[in-house]
Amino acid sequence: TKEDVKSYLFRNAFVLLTVTAVIVGTILGFTLRPYRMSYREVKYFSFPGELLMRMLQMLVLPLIISSLVTGMAALDSKASGKMGMRAVVYYMTTTIIAVVIGIIIVIIIHPGKGTKENMHREGKIVRVTAADAFLDLIRYAPVGILFLIAGKIVEMEDMGVIGGQLAMYTVTVIVGLLIHAVIVLPLLYFLVTRKNPWVFIGGLLQALITALGTSSSSATLPITFKCLEENNGVDKRVTRFVLPVGATINMDGTALYEALAAIFIAQVNNFELNFGQIITISITATAASIGAAGIPQAGLVTMVIVLTSVGLPTDDITLIIAVDWFLDRLRTTTNVLGDSLGAGIVEHLSRHELKNRDVEMGNSVIEE
Ligand code: ASP
Repeated sequence: TKEDVKSYLFRNAFVLLTVTAVIVGTILGFTLRPYRMSYREVKYFSFPGELLMRMLQMLVLPLIISSLVTGMAALDSKASGKMGMRAVVYYMTTTIIAVVIGIIIVIIIHPGKGTKENMHREGKIVRVTAADAFLDLIRYAPVGILFLIAGKIVEMEDMGVIGGQLAMYTVTVIVGLLIHAVIVLPLLYFLVTRKNPWVFIGGLLQALITALGTSSSSATLPITFKCLEENNGVDKRVTRFVLPVGATINMDGTALYEALAAIFIAQVNNFELNFGQIITISITATAASIGAAGIPQAGLVTMVIVLTSVGLPTDDITLIIAVDWFLDRLRTTTNVLGDSLGAGIVEHLSRHELKNRDVEMGNSVIEE
């Protein structure tokens, strides 16, 4: 009906706006770059973006706690046990697949050919404090994302200094993440649910773009909830139960990245890894991704675990810092996609328990 079309357009207007924000932010960033803004000017310029980050972060903790409590309260212990089990199996399986893809791709492409002498070393961490203020978050998101991206492009390293190895490394990470996000995860969703993964992913666009803009799966959480529940109609008992945990421990993109980056560092050091060491990397990369918080560049910090486990120099993390702000956005997007498809898969696998619970509670079971 006309109303349906209108509400469809309204919902998608925000997705369209968010996509436009990414494009305009990128163009604006590159346009302003030649003006070489000072550190202070960049901070002022990125303020609307920082505001979005702060608003999202402010929501996260209450959201995690209240959603876990209500999610568990809505299920009996047997049903929540089963659901938790399914979620953990999904998290582990996809994380391990991601690590294996990372390892295979970096060995095949071998971006670390040559030595590390020609790679520049540069490190920087930016922290800003933003004021207070609360706006309608979802509506504000496109504005914030625009400035987050534009601000980052204004202050990033000159592309000229990124050498051949680092460029190849960037491409390798992108290929690995794409294989996982575009082939493996959608295929898994299809195999389990027999539903079209692309329709499901279509409903997630705003969350995925927010992940790209914020580099934080925790900060994206409020938007992920909204996309899953409102656009994809995933049962709230499932999202509340699996999303908060997923956003914290299930990081396919980070796991893939950590394994790949560690092997890249081995390659630039001409350090031959034996099979046992590769297995060690895959185990520690999995652990490091579970341990990483859903905040910007957390994966870079937990990489220390992976490198030390096989005796690689942890100082060499600085070799990849220059491109990490960008790759972090991509792996965060993969992380959010993995959590979201996981919620869809767990919902499908738990449909009988959910239905039984409805009957038990006297809720009317409405077939959609
Ligand atoms: N930024 C990522 C996330 O929030 C974690 C990471 O650094 O890999 O999901």
